[in-house]
Amino acid sequence: MTVLNEIKYQKICILGSTGSIGLSTLDVISLHPEKFQLISLTAHSSVDKMFQQCQQYKPKYVVMVDRDAAKQLIIKLSSINLNISVCSGEEALIDAAQADDVDTVMAAIVGFAGLMPTLAAVKAGKKVLLANKEALVTSGQIFIDAVKESNAQLLPIDSEHNAIFQCLPSHEQQRPGFCQLDQAGVSKILLTGSGGPFRTFAFAELENVTPDQACAHPNWSMGRKISVDSATMMNKGLEFIEAKWLFNLQPDDIQVVLHPQSIIHSMVQYIDGSVIAQMGNPDMRTPIAQALAFPQRIKSGVKPLDFFNNQSFEFEEVDFDKYPNLKLAIKACRLGQGACTALNAANEVTVAAFLNEKIKFTDIAKINETSMNKFVSEKVISIDDVLTLDKKVRSFAKSLLTLEENVK
Ligand code: NAD
Ligand code: MG
Repeated sequence: MTVLNEIKYQKICILGSTGSIGLSTLDVISLHPEKFQLISLTAHSSVDKMFQQCQQYKPKYVVMVDRDAAKQLIIKLSSINLNISVCSGEEALIDAAQADDVDTVMAAIVGFAGLMPTLAAVKAGKKVLLANKEALVTSGQIFIDAVKESNAQLLPIDSEHNAIFQCLPSHEQQRPGFCQLDQAGVSKILLTGSGGPFRTFAFAELENVTPDQACAHPNWSMGRKISVDSATMMNKGLEFIEAKWLFNLQPDDIQVVLHPQSIIHSMVQYIDGSVIAQMGNPDMRTPIAQALAFPQRIKSGVKPLDFFNNQSFEFEEVDFDKYPNLKLAIKACRLGQGACTALNAANEVTVAAFLNEKIKFTDIAKINETSMNKFVSEKVISIDDVLTLDKKVRSFAKSLLTLEENVK
């Protein structure tokens, strides 16, 4: 094979470096020290993981959002004479995301907490690798308008959206947020999902599943919040909304297809009958490497796909009765921004409560629905509207939790 052209040298900030996506990103970057320089790493409070990353990757600076965690990290670093500056607080996250010495930002904080730093990276015109789907779900048009205004380069990391991106013609790849897929001959986006760990469970069995069962995804290893979202298929619902914004689609343009093996990561169907799929082993280092190197290619460390060893491809229709959260998210996508922002906020509250064994798995969708319905008609025009609505919904959803706790 001929050697590909050199990719542009990139100076990188990883928001959420101690998480699952953060670790995979560090893995890919460390394979190519001549192409990438790590400038900054951020995390919420995992001191030990960050200390280990500081020793291994030697970033210029680090942000620990939690102030006590930052203090502990400073003590640990000085005990081994490692000179890395450490900042703390949410403001420091924003500073890291928009810093002049960074040109590429991996947005891999989990949940709504990632919105403001990711948006800061966008507004500063960075190359933004978007894993934090909640940012786009909760702020939709506001986020996309910011991309347009700043000329930031937005690249999808979520494996489905990265797959769709790879299946599009190159002129559409140049303008995430502003694609004209009907003009490109696209008839449908086929968003694949494995169905999660409970695909073969009967609905009645879902009542008593545990957090550990929900987090044991058959194909992917991920953080606990997205693992629960995958089990409820809220993750596919958030991805449905994410796809609408990334590729400028209408809800009717997107169809969810169950594909239990997670080898096909999504597909694009064209008007001439062609369906283009992107395939690979289920390992996030592939989309991360694709986005880091785009439009070139680099090695990711992922094993090549083996077509001959027990490989079968199955496809199923979604049973929406079994996955009420997916149904709810698609409804939110049709209803508008108030519904999407509200649904996301409620879901973050209910997933945390389920992980802390305060509510049952099946309560997640019930509380999400009540919360979304209450706030569905809220106007969300500005980022302040997003922040205000998120706060209101969280407090409402928390008040419903106590009711469910009492009946548990
Ligand atoms: P994770 O829980 O493993 O890691 C989250 C990271 O965010 C950690 O570094 C943590 O310190 C940081 N963080 C958590 N709360 C924070 C806060 N309040 N302020 C600042 N930082 C905070 O999560 P993950 O699985 O890596 O997922 C990260 C994002 O990527 C999510 O939005 C998820 O939906 C998306 N994503 C993940 C995968 C995957 O395979 N894990 C795949 C596709 C998309
Ligand atoms: Mg995904």
